[in-house]
Amino acid sequence: MDDLNNAIEMQKNWTSGPIKFSAATSMSNDAPMIVDLTETLDKRKNNPKAGKRNDTNCYWLPSTLNKNDEETVAEVKSIFVNACKSAGCKVGGQYEKKLNSIVFECNRSKFINRENNLKQSRDAYEKRLKKLGVSEEEKPFVQREKRTSKPIKGRAGFDTQCKFRFSAFWDEQSGRWYIPKEQKGCRDHAGHMREVPSNIRVSSKFLGTREQRQNIVDAVDSEVRPTSAGRIFETQSGEHLDWHQVNYIKNTKSKNASSPNETAADRLIRASRPSEIRQWTGSVPVRASSQQCLSPWDSL
Ligand SMILES: [Zn+2]
Repeated sequence: MDDLNNAIEMQKNWTSGPIKFSAATSMSNDAPMIVDLTETLDKRKNNPKAGKRNDTNCYWLPSTLNKNDEETVAEVKSIFVNACKSAGCKVGGQYEKKLNSIVFECNRSKFINRENNLKQSRDAYEKRLKKLGVSEEEKPFVQREKRTSKPIKGRAGFDTQCKFRFSAFWDEQSGRWYIPKEQKGCRDHAGHMREVPSNIRVSSKFLGTREQRQNIVDAVDSEVRPTSAGRIFETQSGEHLDWHQVNYIKNTKSKNASSPNETAADRLIRASRPSEIRQWTGSVPVRASSQQCLSPWDSL
């Protein structure tokens, strides 16, 4: 039995790799090049200084990601969340404005805040009962806590904080995201085993590629049933989506939809009806999905 326990404990400390992502071949050549992220970690080197970043010390992300806005940050997160999932670990990315970077850490890097966790679960439970129309009298009392895989402070065997981390950076000068060829970070995991990628659940906003997620929105907009849209997504990306995830993608995409030539007036109209995607054709705005004509003042 001790041998078995020891074998399990040994598997809880492991070095990740390879974690593959697609970078541009060089700053001026967007042809994709597969890079192993783990080869860049544990180098104890500072991030190259502004003005000194080049093809020798940086892997550039594709030039299509040449913005530092909310949507692009989410795309950059998506690249690495998926790359790490394929390599058997779940990471979260935090945008650090001051550092012009996104810091990615293993999901097991921080202790669970149990009080917060319990409150979140209770709130979600209450919300669900309300949606189902369950009255106060009918409501069963359930003391529930969200299941967690995060380390718990003070609980023997479950209190190891994993140190796996790395960063993606934004270069203001070139307007590009990059991974330094040598950075600090940590490629080792501790306190948990490598997981089977298909068992790792990541937020639906990070699943698949931007195009695959847009296909969901297009499919649902053209009145394909959410379950069918989910199946199309699964065929394309290999990721399973529940119906509520399909709805989530559709709703958030619609809210954030914008066209490249959007004017301030377009944005105002779109913001006033977030559930619809609209675009201007000449001076008469039309609904993207139904082509129904509207007065320009319809929603102002
Ligand atoms: Zn870890």
